[in-house]
Amino acid sequence: MTKIARRTMLRTIGGISLGSFIPVLGKASTLDKKSGENIKTITTDILVIGGGTAGTIAAIQAARAGCSTILVENGSQLGGTTTTGGVSFPGLFHAWGKQVISGIGWELVSETVKLDDGQLPDFSIPTGRQHWKHQVHVNPFIYTMLAEEKCMQAGIQIRYYETPVSIRFKGDNWEVDTVGKGTRTKIVCKQLIDCTGNASVTSLAGFNVLREEETQPGTLMFRIEGYDMENIDLKLIREKYEEAVAKGELVKEEFRNIHSLLQSHGNNVQHIAGADSTTSETHTITNINGRSSLMKHLRFLRTLPGCEKTRLISMQPETGVRETYRIDGEYQITHEDYTSGKVFDDSICYSFYPIDLHDKNGVAPKHLQEGTVATIPLRALVPKNSRNLLVAGRCLSSDRLANSALRIQASCMAMGQVAGATASLAVKSRKSPVDVPVDDIKSILVHHGAIVP
Ligand SMILES: Cc1cc2nc3c(=O)[nH]c(=O)nc-3n(C[C@H](O)[C@H](O)[C@H](O)COP(=O)(O)OP(=O)(O)OC[C@H]3O[C@@H](n4cnc5c(N)ncnc54)[C@H](O)[C@@H]3O)c2cc1C
Repeated sequence: MTKIARRTMLRTIGGISLGSFIPVLGKASTLDKKSGENIKTITTDILVIGGGTAGTIAAIQAARAGCSTILVENGSQLGGTTTTGGVSFPGLFHAWGKQVISGIGWELVSETVKLDDGQLPDFSIPTGRQHWKHQVHVNPFIYTMLAEEKCMQAGIQIRYYETPVSIRFKGDNWEVDTVGKGTRTKIVCKQLIDCTGNASVTSLAGFNVLREEETQPGTLMFRIEGYDMENIDLKLIREKYEEAVAKGELVKEEFRNIHSLLQSHGNNVQHIAGADSTTSETHTITNINGRSSLMKHLRFLRTLPGCEKTRLISMQPETGVRETYRIDGEYQITHEDYTSGKVFDDSICYSFYPIDLHDKNGVAPKHLQEGTVATIPLRALVPKNSRNLLVAGRCLSSDRLANSALRIQASCMAMGQVAGATASLAVKSRKSPVDVPVDDIKSILVHHGAIVP
């Protein structure tokens, strides 16, 4: 196992040197049009695909455990739904007055808060049914930069704008063909971790993935201002809204009611039916639907008395997606497992959230009974009959209701750390993840600050 030195990594990525930024007159050269046809082969111990909520943590853990690690991300920054999706309030790290998820995710979250002069919630005060009070608000710009910095410090090779197109198991390794802007690469790795949120890698590698007929709606996060809730005639506004819905100019399910849109200023209120980030085609439609819904509502708001000056202050570049595919794993966590806090022989981290299924009528969270904390068994991160393959994040093996709680960010971060730690031990012992002794995984996790059941 070799760690990639930072300088070597920059050379590998594209031969960037400071000299290449100095403008020199008369030295222009043409772009090699065929550069995309040259397939470069690179090898690594661990390849993580998807640099989002779970994947960033998985890669950092793998590299800190001494494995050479490559992180492939099709976007332009780390953090996924936490940053690009604008869901910058990860939870829940605490349950019933006690921290249940810590480790690398918590390190990133708490350092982000500190660097932004933010405030952690008082976790000793019970939230009752208002579980969101224990979510931690993070500055997404700081979060993504810190995540990237920690990856660089750990010697991870980050490859943005890249995605896998084919995957095969050869000898004892995975061979993953990726394409990026002007690049075609074959990445040979000993252990592969799918953190795409959509189980895309698992599916591409030929294993079963599952999907519900109806999935939860997506949400474009944005912020509107320019009106004063105290000085608007809500009754009149509601009437005008219902009129527009009745005429088919607005779709009721997209915001449920005008009051919540105005009151929230656009924070986590929109619902886009059929949101799907699985392919470029579905993701494009999802983003366009999120933005056109916002555009329609913005135009409508500006016709309302007291709201004529409504302005769009910020908007995320992607519509956040809650649910697509899940893996068909060695074990599927059920709703009953989750709500009873079942402990398995291979329970490897905690998860704590209400059952939180959004549908066209909104969401009505079902809270766990006092003292109950769910656990995640390692087998739920392993696609059935696979070797040298792990999954972390919202696409873990679980039934739909259990998944609506397991998909939450702190749980995804905990799973990411488990996947990185397990893959590193699997590399060292030349075993498949399910054959790595659970106690060994627990001790490396504890060594790296995680809390284990
Ligand atoms: C609107 C909304 C509100 C939510 N509210 C909360 C909340 O209040 N609290 C909470 O904790 N959680 C909340 N969640 C849930 C939570 O944010 C997500 O479930 C979680 O962040 C998913 O993490 P992940 O790592 O599985 O996926 P992501 O964070 O989405 O990361 C997946 C990454 O993989 C990349 N990727 C995907 N496919 C490929 C590919 N083929 N090649 C390369 N890269 C790829 C993506 O670009 C992305 O960076 C919410 C989610 C949404 C959408």
